[in-house]
This record gives sequence, C-alpha cells and structure tokens, in this order.
Amino acid sequence: MHARRGSRTTIDTDAFTRAGERLEGTLRPGDCSRLRELLADDRGELRWSLRGERRRRPEGGSDGLLELTLAGALQLPCVRCLEPVETAMDETRQYRLALTEAQAERDDLESEDVDVITGGQNFDVLALVEDEAIMALPLAPSHAACGLPVDLPDAGPAAEAAPEAPAERPNPFAVLERLKRGPQ
Ligand SMILES: [Zn+2]
Repeated sequence: MHARRGSRTTIDTDAFTRAGERLEGTLRPGDCSRLRELLADDRGELRWSLRGERRRRPEGGSDGLLELTLAGALQLPCVRCLEPVETAMDETRQYRLALTEAQAERDDLESEDVDVITGGQNFDVLALVEDEAIMALPLAPSHAACGLPVDLPDAGPAAEAAPEAPAERPNPFAVLERLKRGPQ
C-alpha cells in the first residue's frame, strides 16, 4: 500500500514507540477493498488512533507497544433481509512488537493478554487498521426489527429495551446524499 493524499501510512515502529508518538486518521470503506467486500455500502467511516510506547522488562531492555483505537459506524448487510444495518464500532487493541515474524508467532502463542505482531521500519499502519476493523465486525448483524414477523411475548425486558427499528426506514437525507454523489 502506498502513501495516499500526502498522509503518512507507514511508521518505523522502533522510533514511533521510543518517541511515544501518536498517529490518527479516518478509514473510509471506499479506500479499503478487503473491508468494503464485507459491507453493504460505502457509507460510514472509522476514526482511528495509534499510540506508541515502550515498557521496561523486569530482566532489562524494553518492549515496544502499540495501542489502536477504532470508533465509528459502518453499514453491514443484515443477516435476515440483506438491507444495510448501521453498526457502531468502538474497539481498543494492544500489541507488543517483535523483531521478526518467527519471534512474533512464538511470543503470540505464549502471550495471553496482548497480541504480538512484527514491527519494522516500514510498518503499514493502514493495513493494521483495516485488519482490526475486519476482525471487529459483528458476525451476524441484523435489524432490531426486520420487517419479518417477530412475535415473542415471552422475550422479557431485553426485547422491550430494543430500539423501535429506526434502521428500517432509510433516512431521506442519506438517500438524497447518495443520489447527489451519483454511482461510484
Ligand atoms: Zn434486516
């Protein structure tokens, strides 16, 4: 993946974590082919933020750590009616950096609390963000009420607390916006 629109998309993970740097951006479905394949349409976006830090090891030396947060909403196909359903996402993930892929794989098996990934001088931040966005997608998104007859008199408080299916009716302004933009 090459740098786009002048924004930085690769980092030197060693320098980034030593300086405690932070990098932020916005992921749009139209820019991410692997993510886009899983979505209902191009609407929505995820704001992301990546932060680096070093943590001292008890035995000496230090580990590079990355923390990634993702927040926003995307349109997923409803598993029942296949129409778009807006899906909010809010994820924080932490990683420990290893020098080589072999070391990352070995450490990842031993490490329960944090993922171990391979760092480097040309670490592709957007690929990491897209990977995490894909992994954070819910497996079976569906509308709270889907037009299908759902008659559950014994469903209890959980059913009563469900929102009144706002996603069923397309927002006229969103439709207008898409018409103005034309086919993509
Ligand atoms: Zn549905």
